[in-house]
Amino acid sequence: MKYDVLIAGAGVTGAMAARELSRYQLSVCLLEKENDVACGASKANSGIVHGGFDPEPGTLKAKLNAEGIGLLYEAAAQLHVPCKQNGSMVCAFGAEEEPAIDELYQRGLQNGIGSMAILSGDEARKLEPNLSEAITKVLHIPAAGIICPYDLTIAAVGNAMDNGVELKRNFEIDKIDCVDGFVVTSTEGEQVEGRYFLNCAGNHADEVAELIGDRFYDIIPRAGEYMLLDKAEGSRVSHTIFQVPSKEGKGILVSPTVDGNLLCGPTAAKVAGPEHNETTNGGLAIVQRLAAKSVPSVNFRQVITSFTGVRSSEKNGDFIIEESKKQKGFIHVAAIDSPGLTSCVAVAKYALNILKESGLELVEKENWDGSREDTHAFRKMNDEEKDAFIKANPTYGKIVCRCETVSEGEIRDAIRRNPQAWDIDSVKRRTRSGMGRCQGGFCSPYVMKLIAEELGIPMEQVSKNGKGSEPLLGKL
Ligand SMILES: Cc1cc2nc3c(=O)[nH]c(=O)nc-3n(C[C@H](O)[C@H](O)[C@H](O)COP(=O)(O)OP(=O)(O)OC[C@H]3O[C@@H](n4cnc5c(N)ncnc54)[C@H](O)[C@@H]3O)c2cc1C
Repeated sequence: MKYDVLIAGAGVTGAMAARELSRYQLSVCLLEKENDVACGASKANSGIVHGGFDPEPGTLKAKLNAEGIGLLYEAAAQLHVPCKQNGSMVCAFGAEEEPAIDELYQRGLQNGIGSMAILSGDEARKLEPNLSEAITKVLHIPAAGIICPYDLTIAAVGNAMDNGVELKRNFEIDKIDCVDGFVVTSTEGEQVEGRYFLNCAGNHADEVAELIGDRFYDIIPRAGEYMLLDKAEGSRVSHTIFQVPSKEGKGILVSPTVDGNLLCGPTAAKVAGPEHNETTNGGLAIVQRLAAKSVPSVNFRQVITSFTGVRSSEKNGDFIIEESKKQKGFIHVAAIDSPGLTSCVAVAKYALNILKESGLELVEKENWDGSREDTHAFRKMNDEEKDAFIKANPTYGKIVCRCETVSEGEIRDAIRRNPQAWDIDSVKRRTRSGMGRCQGGFCSPYVMKLIAEELGIPMEQVSKNGKGSEPLLGKL
């Protein structure tokens, strides 16, 4: 089968590109090396819809951030992805940092960000009573928001698949032959062919570019460590609280999440490789110290987990979205670091335009449906809805994850629905089962049983996150 377009990488960039392409009469295949979608930077980031004041004016980042905010809110509504416009605050601590607030305000204006306000420390504390007394000046950006990055990626892939896109998982691109299009071979020897190729491989985009002899950039992996706090701390602040950014990034933030937790982080440190996923004592100590600088009353005894995400930075600091000068039809969509989540729909549309200029014919489908049915999260239902769901399907009355009140019905749905959950972590990302205080200590065995039943496989073959991570060795 020769596809019209192959997409490398099912992170939020590839997912949104797939969804945008699914509007047209095209055959599209999304290739992902992991056992699930959203396994790279798109599963471990701050989940902030950035207000657009930070990128250097005139860059592609600044343009797509500004365009992307509204497009992202629109897509989230269509896909039923929880998203909240909670506004953000950038805080200066004393006279030395205050000029940076004015600079960011001016930069925001240049980037086309309309509604921003400069507040005194006291004015900001009226809106956010738990802010530190040491904060003297604040940039307030009401358009900023919070979103769940993996929910968005999963929903975008699901919607693209419902509109005809094919997803191949465990397909690690190993070789690309450029003959009348692209013949792509995986590490397992599987082959697919495509007329056009979008390289959305995140931290591995430079390696994929090298496969066609066009590695003109190097991805510099930079890790960010986080602490996630229990819902008891979720209302410590209502805005996303930033500090004045530095060369290293946007600094340590304190933010509520859409699911009601409190998130503190990230650090910024160069790491040896793109697959880095460790947290360190040193990194977490920085997170704790700097988060407490903004919001001193955060109770760090409520930390339920910590994690690391890896940014795919590049030395010039901008997104790279362009057609290869060596191979027509191969589009680099690389160095999509922050604010890549905010910009994802704008990035996808920009890449599609390049495909069009390169000759890809875009004929709209008559029956394209950009909406996706909401997941039936038991914890969000009122009593009448719960009653109706349990009557229609008694598995909704059986609670599997007690920390997050996730029912068996939801888990079975997640295993059946596009893109199907195949392992414990993919059930976790789709349903929140295992995301609460006990971090899956109680529900994991039951989740494994449900996966085994639904997929018709023995329990020993159920994995945490793909081959080699099976928790059970065999029967005694
Ligand atoms: C710490 C941190 C904080 C951030 N905070 C924010 C934020 O608050 N707001 C915001 O807007 N942005 C934020 N970002 C940026 C945002 O997360 C990224 O821009 C976005 O997730 C990039 O998505 P992607 O699809 O390009 O890359 P990824 O999500 O990394 O996806 C790339 C995919 O390609 C796959 N792949 C790689 N190589 C191959 C291969 N050879 N074959 C097949 N598949 C392959 C990978 O497995 C992966 O699934 C943050 C990033 C980090 C790391």
